[in-house]
Amino acid sequence: MDIEKIRNDFPMLKTKMQGHDLIYLDNGATTLKPKAVADAIYEYLTCYSGNAHRGDYDLSHTVDTAFENAREDVRRFINAKRVEEIVFTAGATDSLNMVAYGYGLTHLHEGDEIILNVAEHASNTLPWFDVAKKTGAKIVYAPLTDGCVTLEGIKSVTTDKTKIISVAIVSNVMGYVAPVKEIIKFAHEHDIIVVCDGAQSVPHHITDVIADDIDFLAFSGHKMCGPTGIGVLYGKYHLLDETSPTRYGGGSNARYKSNLEVDMKKPPYKFESGTPNIEGAIGLGAAIRYLEGIGMKDIMEREAKLRAYAIEKLKALDNITIYNENGTGAIAFNINNVFAQDGASLFNANGVAVRAGEHCAKLLDEYLGVRTTLRASFYFYNTEEEIDAFVEVCKKGDDFLDAFFG
Ligand code: PMP
Repeated sequence: MDIEKIRNDFPMLKTKMQGHDLIYLDNGATTLKPKAVADAIYEYLTCYSGNAHRGDYDLSHTVDTAFENAREDVRRFINAKRVEEIVFTAGATDSLNMVAYGYGLTHLHEGDEIILNVAEHASNTLPWFDVAKKTGAKIVYAPLTDGCVTLEGIKSVTTDKTKIISVAIVSNVMGYVAPVKEIIKFAHEHDIIVVCDGAQSVPHHITDVIADDIDFLAFSGHKMCGPTGIGVLYGKYHLLDETSPTRYGGGSNARYKSNLEVDMKKPPYKFESGTPNIEGAIGLGAAIRYLEGIGMKDIMEREAKLRAYAIEKLKALDNITIYNENGTGAIAFNINNVFAQDGASLFNANGVAVRAGEHCAKLLDEYLGVRTTLRASFYFYNTEEEIDAFVEVCKKGDDFLDAFFG
């Protein structure tokens, strides 16, 4: 991987923060965007910015083609069988809500059980809480082992009432990879549907929905070099067919049958009412082609190397607590005796962007025994030199007041 060439693709890597070269280690929140993505969006906005699936003139067909080509890019990237299984959404949160309300609300009954775990992001708990309230279903938590979801943990709470398991493939805090293939195999033997939150896995790993037999998969464009406001809901076609839209409007109905009765279009269009986020989809398509150009296998290997390098350096310090030494994604840590937000301010003062807080996984604090953590999350464009600079700031942990008064 030619890192120098890759870094030149990301104009933001040349910016400064607090007078330092920006060291961006908050890729779990959102990633930087390569110029190719900005160019694709710019081209749509300036050269062929019509609506999609609305017109019968050449310009409109150009837009339709670009929009549907982006859908095909997504299909190829996650190895879905059919392009109709790819629904454009506003992001992972939107996709998870669509499954919870569109599928959960109509398929769950009083007493049914939904398995979650305490490491799940709020976007994969709150919709289920509400759907459980509305249907009388029950939320059950699978225990974690060393911060990881395991098949045994899932099995230990599965009953004949379990209908849905919703699980992040990679946790945004703990960084582990859940054994989804095994979980799904077990679930299907018991007629249980598995919803996968791929927000932190799809950008970093090879995704193969056929090999893993995934029922539903949610992810966001902005965490994989694409723009904000666009995401994907993948669903097996027959499941999407059984899922109700959660928004209705123009473009999604085939015809009016009678007063109050309409025939909806087939997936994915029944879910895409209203003018879609066309530049978002085109930007996501460009992001996918960019990632494919580098190669997801190389991306995975590079990130694993960066993480291992950072863990080794952090472990050599005696003022750092690491909460997930063995994970694969983000590193959750604290500078001993320093409140996480103060730590983040110290990093900021040194040009390093890391996240501090509960990371939208508020149920996890009891498990970790700590309310807030710092989180450093890498992407393929990060370097060992950036990690060295990050570690130097960690060493200065006791001087965090300098960030305010220094
Ligand atoms: N799930 C996980 C695991 C996440 O990390 C995030 C984003 N932090 C989401 C869901 C929600 O993604 P978005 O905010 O893009 O909808």
